[in-house]
Amino acid sequence: MSTERYSRQRLFSPIGDEGQQKMSGKHVLIVGVGALGTSCAEQLVRAGVGHLTLIDRDYVEWSNLQRQQLFSESDADSRLPKVVAAKSRLEQLNHEVHITGLIQDAGREELEALLGDVDVMIDATDNFETRLLMNDLSQMYRVPWIYGACVSSHGMSYTIIPGENACLRCLMDTIPMGGATCDTVGVISPAVQMVTAHQVTETLKLLVEDHEALTERFITFDLWKHRYSSISVDKIKKEDCPSCGTNPTYPALSIENQTKSAVLCGRNTVQIRPAQTGERDFEELKDRLPEGTIKENPFLLSYDQGDFRFVFFRDGRVLIHGTKDITEAKTMYQRIAGG
Ligand SMILES: [Zn+2]
Repeated sequence: MSTERYSRQRLFSPIGDEGQQKMSGKHVLIVGVGALGTSCAEQLVRAGVGHLTLIDRDYVEWSNLQRQQLFSESDADSRLPKVVAAKSRLEQLNHEVHITGLIQDAGREELEALLGDVDVMIDATDNFETRLLMNDLSQMYRVPWIYGACVSSHGMSYTIIPGENACLRCLMDTIPMGGATCDTVGVISPAVQMVTAHQVTETLKLLVEDHEALTERFITFDLWKHRYSSISVDKIKKEDCPSCGTNPTYPALSIENQTKSAVLCGRNTVQIRPAQTGERDFEELKDRLPEGTIKENPFLLSYDQGDFRFVFFRDGRVLIHGTKDITEAKTMYQRIAGG
C-alpha cells in the first residue's frame, strides 16, 4: 500500500492507521449502480476499501449523465452495462481495490450468494421491492445495511444494524417514504451527494468498527429549501415485526421468489425475467428476430421495433421500453422472442 495515498485519511483520528488497515480487509456490496451507487463506489474506492461488489441490471443512458458520476458520453453511446462502465472507471482510480461487477438483477438468489462474505450492504436502488429484500436478508444473515433515497432536492438515509435497531419494515408504517420518482419530479445532483455523504460516512464507521459513532437517527433533508432534520427511531422497533421481531418470517424472501416481471421505477419500461435460466445465445436470437434495428455489444443486444425497444441481456433478462403494462410487454416478448 502506498504510504501517501491514504495519508490524509489516516491523519483523521477515528480512522488512523489501524482503521485504514481494517478497511483494506473489508468487503462492501453496493446494490444498484445509478446516482447513489456510483457516488458511494467512487468514495469507497478512493478511501481504500478492500473489496467492492457492484450489482446492477441496467445500462448507461444519456439521461444518467447529469448525476451518475462514473459514466461518460461514450458509455451512453455504446449502451454499456452500468456495472462494466463503473468497474472500468473505478479501476483507474485505485488499482489496489478488488472490484467485482455483476450484471444481474438484485434478486434473492444473487444477493444471498454474496452475503456470506459481505461486511456492509449499501442501498443504491430505486425501488422498495429490492429494499425489503435487502432488509430481510440483512436480518437473516446479520449484515448491516444503509438505506438511502433521493428525489427532487430532498433525500433520506438510515443505518440498520440487525438485532439492534428498527428495520426498514418497522419504519415504513410510521415514516412517510413518498411515492415520487426521479422520472416524475426529477432530481438534482447535490441531493444525491448529500445522501451518499451520509451513507459513506456510516459505512466508514462500520468498516473501522467504530460502532459507537453510528448515527442512530433517520436523516431527512431538503437542500433547496434548506431544511434538515433527524428523527429518533428508538421507539419504533416492533417486537412483532416479521423482519426483525422475535419470530421473523422474512416476507420479502418468499414474495420475491415469485416475481418474474416488474415495471421499472418511474420508467416506461417492463423487465421480464424468464423462468428458465442459462446464458442467452445472441446469434440464435438474431436469426429469430423479425425485421428491426439491432445494436449489440458484448453484454447486451438491443432491438428496436416501432415505438418499442427490447434490450436482451446475457443472463436471460429482457427490458422492454415503451410500455408500463406487464401483460402487453409479456405478449410482445413472446411474439418476438418466442417466450
Ligand atoms: Zn422491523
